[in-house]
Amino acid sequence: MNNPRIGVYPGTFDPITNGHTDIIRRAAKLVDRLIVGVARNDGKGPLFSTDERVEIVREEIRYLENGDAGKIEVRAFDTLLMAFAESVGASIIVRGLRAVSDFEYEFQMAGMNARLNTSIETVFLMASDRYQFISSRFVKEIGALGGDISHFVSPRVAARLRERYNGGRIKGRR
Ligand code: ADP
Repeated sequence: MNNPRIGVYPGTFDPITNGHTDIIRRAAKLVDRLIVGVARNDGKGPLFSTDERVEIVREEIRYLENGDAGKIEVRAFDTLLMAFAESVGASIIVRGLRAVSDFEYEFQMAGMNARLNTSIETVFLMASDRYQFISSRFVKEIGALGGDISHFVSPRVAARLRERYNGGRIKGRR
């Protein structure tokens, strides 16, 4: 049998949105195994700790309906992405593309990564147009101000965000 095709989908997932989940669903169809790599990224000052982000992504994967959940694994990493991809035997790095704004950063990253390892390809997937505009950053901003985030994240993630913000600085806000 041929070697299994392993893909890595890296990100901060702070927290995972419907856009991320859509990309995971699409990516899982293209590979034999998909490793969702949760970057520690302490420099970005994440709202959720790495362990929490891993746990939340795992929970979302359990709710995937297309039967691909069994081939998806979630792992934290704090090394260079290329080193992580090599360590899990990946031949593909998956990234999601939203709009023109993502393009330049993703283009540079893919180009640099291609120099670091010529046998790992970066592939870009687009989320469904319903999800393309969603970003974790705005979900957090809207959530912090008590806005409705139910269209952007799962009910489970929405509950986590509410809990985080209610226990935090906006407690008592009307
Ligand atoms: P990073 O910190 O690397 O930007 P993110 O967790 O924000 O990580 O996103 C991980 C990947 O998912 C990136 O490639 C990003 O462009 C992509 N992504 C995030 N949100 C969406 C979305 N709504 N539609 C498509 N791709 C997305």
